[in-house]
Amino acid sequence: MNQVLYRKYRPQQFKDFTAQNHVIQTLINEIEQNKIAHAYLFSGHRGTGKTSMARLFAKAINCQNRKGFEPCNECIACQEINKGSAIDIIEIDAASNRGIDDIRSLRDSIRYKPNLLKYKVLILDEAHQLSKDAANALLKILEEPPEYVVFILATTEAHKMISTISSRCQRFDFYKLTIKEIVSKLEEIAKKEGVIIEKEALELIAASADGALRDAEGIFDQILNFVSKKEIKVGDIQDMLGLVDLSLAFDFTEFLIDKNIPHAIKYLNENIERGLNIEEFSKTIINFLRKLLILKINKDLIDDIVVGETKETKDKMVSQSERFKGEDLKLILNLLLEAENKRKFSSIAQLPFELALVDYFYQAKKS
Ligand SMILES: [Zn+2]
Repeated sequence: MNQVLYRKYRPQQFKDFTAQNHVIQTLINEIEQNKIAHAYLFSGHRGTGKTSMARLFAKAINCQNRKGFEPCNECIACQEINKGSAIDIIEIDAASNRGIDDIRSLRDSIRYKPNLLKYKVLILDEAHQLSKDAANALLKILEEPPEYVVFILATTEAHKMISTISSRCQRFDFYKLTIKEIVSKLEEIAKKEGVIIEKEALELIAASADGALRDAEGIFDQILNFVSKKEIKVGDIQDMLGLVDLSLAFDFTEFLIDKNIPHAIKYLNENIERGLNIEEFSKTIINFLRKLLILKINKDLIDDIVVGETKETKDKMVSQSERFKGEDLKLILNLLLEAENKRKFSSIAQLPFELALVDYFYQAKKS
């Protein structure tokens, strides 16, 4: 995935961070009070800013000209760190350097005081992937770290870390970003890149990134390369992400509300002939019906569960949820979920989906 935007807009100061305020607040207190711990554990979902935060923190504690808690980005220390050429900042990916020898060479590298900076900072990414021997060797270092060393361990799976290591670290949990947080960051990038993009399109990007800002920026990057124009619409994003056109979901749901299963099956097969992917379609319909079910219980949730869509679309969904009988909606959702499980055993890809429709036809008729 192209990550140019991700690198270009990596936060250079704490104020540039869009999320993780709970982490920032504690870190800047420590910086201001000069109470730097020897080991930190940054844990959380991928793409939520752990490594960016680690680098920023490393810069802030080493800046030679710091104003308050923000690094100046001008002194030699800041510049070297920004360029990625500071030899006192050591980044290791534990996914590919997971053995005891890797930790031993790490131990050797911290034997001497930092070259230029105040602190040697070791950023150990995917720290849970260390082998058992390596983790134990790391523990030994953490038990008696030289006073000029700061460890920052980052992990997507904190529960896999050995507890004797985690307990020696100050732990921070990074949360998935909300759609609002991602949209606000993307809006900022769009502005700087001179691109006009519909708010709904940004919401759609944010929704498909599942809380990972890095992924959202990657998608945004792709779309900028993909559309080669300066005005981007929701449709552009749908095309690029290969999302099933929502009008298909609306049409199909109409058949389900009317229990017009013969037409539903015909419609399905016509679209498959035109290249519709049944797997994607099934996912889209299940997701769509789930939203209708929630709307049926509480339509005030519309703005929370339906993002990246126009007001007109949202109104249409509320209308469908009102006309769909709750019992029927629950029934078809259960049947389609079962069909999902059966698909991998079926030699005809759409058969389980069709069987679910037929079951719905007979069972919903009775009620
Ligand atoms: Zn500086």
